[in-house]
Amino acid sequence: DSLGQDRHPAPAAQTVEPEYDFSQFGEFRRLMSIKEQLNMTGVPNPYFSVHEGTVGDTTLIDGQEMISFASYNYLGLSGHPDVNQFASDAIQKYGTSVSASRLVSGEKPIHGQLEKQIADWIGVEDCILMVGGHATNETTIGHLVGEGDLILHDSLSHNSIVQGALLSGARRRPFPHNDFEALDRVLTETRSQYRRVLIIVEGVYSMDGDFSNVPEFVNVKKRHQALLMVDEAHSFGTMGTTGHGMAEYWDMDAKDVDIWMGTLSKSAASCGGYIAGSHSLVELLRYTAPGFVFSVGMPPAQVGAALGALDVLAREPDRVERLRQRSELFLNLCRDAGLDTGESNQTPVVPVITGNSLVALRLSNRLKADAINVQPILYPAVDESAARLRFFITSEHTEEQIRFTAERVTHHLSELGFQPVSSAASG
Ligand code: PMP
Repeated sequence: DSLGQDRHPAPAAQTVEPEYDFSQFGEFRRLMSIKEQLNMTGVPNPYFSVHEGTVGDTTLIDGQEMISFASYNYLGLSGHPDVNQFASDAIQKYGTSVSASRLVSGEKPIHGQLEKQIADWIGVEDCILMVGGHATNETTIGHLVGEGDLILHDSLSHNSIVQGALLSGARRRPFPHNDFEALDRVLTETRSQYRRVLIIVEGVYSMDGDFSNVPEFVNVKKRHQALLMVDEAHSFGTMGTTGHGMAEYWDMDAKDVDIWMGTLSKSAASCGGYIAGSHSLVELLRYTAPGFVFSVGMPPAQVGAALGALDVLAREPDRVERLRQRSELFLNLCRDAGLDTGESNQTPVVPVITGNSLVALRLSNRLKADAINVQPILYPAVDESAARLRFFITSEHTEEQIRFTAERVTHHLSELGFQPVSSAASG
C-alpha cells in the first residue's frame, strides 16, 4: 500500500469537537501530512513490512526471500532450534503466562535462574528481569531519582531513557555525544546543587554504531559522586571477545558501573529487559519499582528463550567473533567505496548516511529490487542531513551476502548522484 492511502480514510464530514476526535488532533494531522509527503515521492511505504518467517541472514517478504539487514538478531539465535526447545520446554512446564506479578505468586524457578546467569555473565552481584526493555528504562530511571536530582544523559540517548527521565521529575540535561570531558565540566559546575546525580550512557549506539568509553565515564562519576547507568541493549552479546558486553570489551570491573541495563530482545533472542548491579539496587527494585511490582512476571517462553540463547552462546562463542568479522568487512567495503558510514566502529551497526531522506528512501527501495532488505531512517526520526540506511549485521551473514550488498549500495548511490566522501573523512 502507498503512504497516506491505507487504513485512514478521510474523516467523515460531521461536526465533532476537536478535543474528542483523534483525527482532528494536531499530532494526527502532522502525521498525515508527513505520510502524504512521503506518498508523493512515489516510493512505497517502508514501514510495517510483513516478515513471514524467522528473520536471520535472510527474511521472507511478500513470498520473496531477501537478505536482511533490518533485525537485531545479531547472533542468529532467534529461530535457533535449541533456543526454540528451551522456550517450548518452559511453556510445557509453566504455561504461557505466570498470571501474576512475581511479588505475589508469579515467581517461577527459571526467573531466578536467568537472573543469576545474567548477573554472572556481566560480573555483578544480582539482576532483576522486567517484561520489556523500554519499560525497564522507564520504570527504573523514573523510580530511582526524582525532584531535587539531576539526570545527565548522552545527547543520542534512546527514547526509553528520555521517557524515564521525564517520568522521574528530576532535572534532565543531555550532554554532547560520548563527551565525558563536557560531562565532567557540567558536574564541576553543578554537582553541589543536587541530591543524586544519575549519568546515563549506552554501550553501543544503535543509530550510529559507535560506542562509549565506559572507563572514562566511571572516572567522572567517581570524581563527582554520581551514579552511572549503562544501557547494553546493543552491546550485550556483541561486544567483548565472548559477548559479555562493555565490561569485557574494556577489561574493567563491572562493579564500577552502578546500574547495568539491557534488553533480551536483541542478542538474547527473546523479549524483556534487565537491571543488573548490587544486591541492594536489585532488592530495592524488586520491592518498589512500579513497572516490576505492578506488572506481570516475564512469561516462561521469554525466560526459556533467553536461557537457551545464553546456553548456545556459552558453547559457541565464535558467533561473536564471526559477527565482528562480518561487521568489519561490511564497514571496510563501504568506507573503501567512499560511502559515509559516520562514526561506526567495531560494532554490528553500520549506517550509510545519505544526508537526504529522499535518497535514503529511494536507495532502500532499489535495494529491495536486489532482494536486500534494509530500513531507511528518515526525517523527522533524524535530522534531514543525517538521513540514512541502517545496516544491522548478523553473525549468520555470509561474506558473499556482505560483499554483494556493499557492491549494490555503492552502485545505486552512484546512480542516484551521491558524491563519495574520501575514506579519510568517513573514517
Ligand atoms: N534501549 C536501547 C538503547 C534500545 O535501542 C532499545 C530498543 N531498540 C531499548 C532500550 C528498548 O528495548 P526493547 O526493544 O527490548 O523494549
